[in-house]
Amino acid sequence: MRVHLTTLGCPKNQVDSELMLGMLADAGHEVVAAAEAADCLIVNTCAFIDQAREESIHTILELAQLKGKRPGRSLIVTGCLSQRYGREVLDGVPEVDAILGTSELERILDLVQQAHARQDWATSAPPGYLYDATAPRLLTRRVPYAYVKIAEGCDMGCAFCAIPQFRGRHRSRPLADVVREVEGLARRGIQEAILVSQDTLAYGKDLRGNGDIGDLLLALSGTPMPWIRAMYLHPAHINDRLLAKWQKARVLPYLDMPIQHADDGILRVMRRGVTARRMREIFQAFREGIPDLTLRTTVLVGFPVESEDAFGNLLDFIEEVRFDRLGVFTYSREEGTPAAVMSEQVPPEVAAERARIVQECQDRIAWERQKAFFGTVQTVLVDGPSEDPAFVWEGRTAGQAPEIDGVVYLRDRGLVPGNFAQVRIVEVEGYELVGEPLPPGEK
Ligand code: SF4
Repeated sequence: MRVHLTTLGCPKNQVDSELMLGMLADAGHEVVAAAEAADCLIVNTCAFIDQAREESIHTILELAQLKGKRPGRSLIVTGCLSQRYGREVLDGVPEVDAILGTSELERILDLVQQAHARQDWATSAPPGYLYDATAPRLLTRRVPYAYVKIAEGCDMGCAFCAIPQFRGRHRSRPLADVVREVEGLARRGIQEAILVSQDTLAYGKDLRGNGDIGDLLLALSGTPMPWIRAMYLHPAHINDRLLAKWQKARVLPYLDMPIQHADDGILRVMRRGVTARRMREIFQAFREGIPDLTLRTTVLVGFPVESEDAFGNLLDFIEEVRFDRLGVFTYSREEGTPAAVMSEQVPPEVAAERARIVQECQDRIAWERQKAFFGTVQTVLVDGPSEDPAFVWEGRTAGQAPEIDGVVYLRDRGLVPGNFAQVRIVEVEGYELVGEPLPPGEK
């Protein structure tokens, strides 16, 4: 059967999609790039916040229309939306033939096989799935990086977050298994392994004798993978031992640490388990201990009880720490979370205005910091053809994670995608850089 899969949401979903495609390809199905050419349409959805849900539903409806254009074509909805809302998805959109949650991914094989006859909900299973290095994985995107999910679920219980409801409790993959997967990816030509999970620094805490995230980074340092990057680092888990291991490990100098807020009252109500002072200490220690560190964070504005003063404290913190990159979200009232039933909800227009102010503040800071790159020589991983027709290729420095941090545009036709290049930064435009390869012999 010809199968097309649309992935929405975060890199963790991307991994699940690649695993499902790997299983389908192994079973003899043909994976096609164009939805119009497929007999079976699959959409792997996201249900993180209201915007993500809207995008998921919009995509399902678009695919439902496409399904109607060819008799016998089927539509399967997988991922967080199905895990979270179960039968509602199946009942709400009659064109959907089957649904699958975030558990029991291997059941996609049965569903694709039988999808032309409408199925009942395939997974009432609680979230528990974790893949291992032997699982077939189809890397469909022609990029030299791959995400590696080292753990799944989360035990932190932040008051605004619904993720643990549909991704389950934190569970880690054994260290040796992650190492095996990264070695395998390196053999397949992948140049950058990006470690992801809901709570990356909690890695290993649930496995006796396994070692923690620091041990994993040290073990991965011995693999042939050129670049190793870790994402989603909760500040509550940082300690001196971890910083010491991080310094010894061969990991990119890139710290992606979502703070969510910086007012102590809000942090407490959010149940973040850290104070603003502690986060200041952490950022200072990492900046002092790791040369050329790029600091990325995420903040959430409009959380219930966020007063003007509390918001002011967040802005002051952002001004003081001067992050290189920052993503800002407005609070989304998520069913089943403690924050959803708090009485002091912030009006959405106030939250949107606060997000705009944060973004403006951060753009000013980041663009100033970016100017320091002008004239420097950087190692760039050439990702592939540029989306901007004025350039041939685009790539990234160690300080730029894929899809969220901007790129280095490259004009030189002689560069090879998937390879590293030494380039001089000749233009700085906001978050984007333009680079030119060094002439042979120049350093
Ligand atoms: S750390 Fe908090 S925000 Fe992140 S997934 Fe866990 S509960 Fe959600």
